[in-house]
Amino acid sequence: MDALWMGALGAFVLGLMVGSFLNVVIHRTPRGENIAWPGSHCPKCGESLRWYHNVPLLSWMALRGRCAFCHAPISVRYPLVELLNALLWGALWIDIFGIRHTPFDGAGIVYFLLIAATFSALLALSMIDFEFFAVPDSVNFFALGTALLAAGARAWQTGDWSIARDALLAAVVAAGGLWLLAWLIGKATRKEAMGGADVIVAGTMAALLGPLGFFVALFVAALLAIVPSLLARDTMVPFVPFLSLGTLTVYLLEGPILRLIGAWVHG
Ligand SMILES: [Zn+2]
Repeated sequence: MDALWMGALGAFVLGLMVGSFLNVVIHRTPRGENIAWPGSHCPKCGESLRWYHNVPLLSWMALRGRCAFCHAPISVRYPLVELLNALLWGALWIDIFGIRHTPFDGAGIVYFLLIAATFSALLALSMIDFEFFAVPDSVNFFALGTALLAAGARAWQTGDWSIARDALLAAVVAAGGLWLLAWLIGKATRKEAMGGADVIVAGTMAALLGPLGFFVALFVAALLAIVPSLLARDTMVPFVPFLSLGTLTVYLLEGPILRLIGAWVHG
């Protein structure tokens, strides 16, 4: 196994552990609970989990999806979030170091961790939005912050500080533009068109993807949201999951497309 795949495997395992923490964030932040204290416990019987009840994926399978104490069913969401986040981290590792050929040095690893943290936060926001049709500002601003810092890490690595400046500018223009649009539509229709949360997500998207990628991701998100919106005409459709999926699609495709264009331009 070569170094790239070894690294991707490491990222997968780290992603599993972070996914386990995301479950805590997803469950507690919308309820206004502290994410660090108390330790994990069964929401049904309140019994504290032992470390071996907390091993990502494996514990859920070993316990066959039930609490070890009261045997109450544990949602499949827990292992699902762990697996999704692990796959996300593995895919981002391959994209960043294998496809984009980001130099593998200190700044490169910091860049990877910040990008992975941003997408993990978007995953948590998506799961929360599915359940509550609202997302916590703390997680939302965390994603925006790590996306901007990731641009800073690339600027530090390349010595080209315009990368950081452009990401900040894109985030401000995208969030500001969307806020203005929502305000105008709200004035015209006398209804609230978009939440403040979507505006912050737009800033994160633009910081990650730049202005062009931002518009492509918005378009992909709208396309993905059409079918569920038609199917569930009378119920609300959360938009953050589609924005996140559009953002991930564009981020992962950007590398291969840039490489294709490069090969074409340089013959
Ligand atoms: Zn229990």
